[in-house]
Amino acid sequence: MLVFILNAGSSSLKYQLMNPVIKKVFASGICERIGIDGVLKHEYGDGKELKLEIDMPTHKEAIEAVLSTLTVGEGKVIDSIDSIQATGHRVAHGGEFFQKSTLVTEEVIAKIEALIPLAPLHNPANILGMKICQELLPGKPNVAVFDTVFHQTMPDYAYMYALPYDQYTKHKIRKYGFHGTSHYYVSNEARQMLDKKRNTRIIVCHLGNGSSVTAVLNGKSIDTSMGLTPVQGLMMGTRSGDVGAGAISYMMKQEGLDIDQITELMNKKSGILGISGKSSDLREVLAAMHDDERCRLAVDMVAYNIKKYVGSYVAALDGVDALCFTGGIGENSALIREIVCTGLDGMGLVLDPIKNNKNRNDARDIATNSSAARIFVIPTNEEYVIANDTYKVVMES
Ligand code: AMP
Repeated sequence: MLVFILNAGSSSLKYQLMNPVIKKVFASGICERIGIDGVLKHEYGDGKELKLEIDMPTHKEAIEAVLSTLTVGEGKVIDSIDSIQATGHRVAHGGEFFQKSTLVTEEVIAKIEALIPLAPLHNPANILGMKICQELLPGKPNVAVFDTVFHQTMPDYAYMYALPYDQYTKHKIRKYGFHGTSHYYVSNEARQMLDKKRNTRIIVCHLGNGSSVTAVLNGKSIDTSMGLTPVQGLMMGTRSGDVGAGAISYMMKQEGLDIDQITELMNKKSGILGISGKSSDLREVLAAMHDDERCRLAVDMVAYNIKKYVGSYVAALDGVDALCFTGGIGENSALIREIVCTGLDGMGLVLDPIKNNKNRNDARDIATNSSAARIFVIPTNEEYVIANDTYKVVMES
């Protein structure tokens, strides 16, 4: 089955064309600067690349450009869009409505719409992507795959905030968690890499521009670092992560900030960018850390925050069988992995420095042979999870 995978953001749109049954990717790419001018970067064949400047006033022209690039000209990989059998949409927030990936219907769209206040940037773009695909690929099923679904198994004592209870009953204010497809994929791979098949206690650190840690017991998420929105938890590229509530109200008072300004400050101006003053990109900050005190501080804070979550999730899981690193930082930064793992011997996690420093891009074990628990680096594959869920939902419908 050929599945079109769409990850629509407010001004960009990522796509992939994949057969999940044989795990083969035919093409992938991104449309950027939608609503401004429009650039399409398309990868196809064996690593061939195409960059096209195409006017994209709205998401509709962007998706039209993608479908056209897939079917005609240099980047062509299929003869006709009729070959596409279904589209899988990455959806940011499924709230408590969705416990699994779902066939898109008018009712499903209405529920995703109702969740817009919880994901004001992402859910509207996701809905737009679904409506455009219904129009451009008529008769072909659309499936919504949610970032939140994997965490719907968290127990109430883990997902509740200690606020007045009616904040939950009235507004559904609670922890939801995100990066669900990645945490699912990586923990599932880790379970297969472990000798042990029962009572598996896995911690996944998804470390990229957005970062989160999840505790996975027997394949189910039991706690995760992100919350009602993706600003909670770890320090990220531009997001603050955990900050005391008192500091937020005090800052608003001192600086005279309204709700939109404080939201922007914590989501766009904080994290690695806010501390380093240099960049939100960890690679650039790592390169400058020996000469720049604020870059050094940013790196130390990033690693320390991850380590604290790992320790607390070892406690939440009553031990650990595998600690997994994924995402741009988790897969590539041996230094961050080393700082996080230093001193965790008592928890059974002993990193092998030689294995850790080997530059490889496959799934691998970087713990010493005698380490009681494993330490894995596992490249994530969120698109595969979206394509595979789409395939399964369509087959069952
Ligand atoms: P992602 O959002 O998963 O694409 O990850 C992006 C983040 O990974 C950025 O902060 C990059 O600087 C970081 N990253 C990518 N490659 C490396 C590397 N070799 N060393 C350190 N950080 C990296």
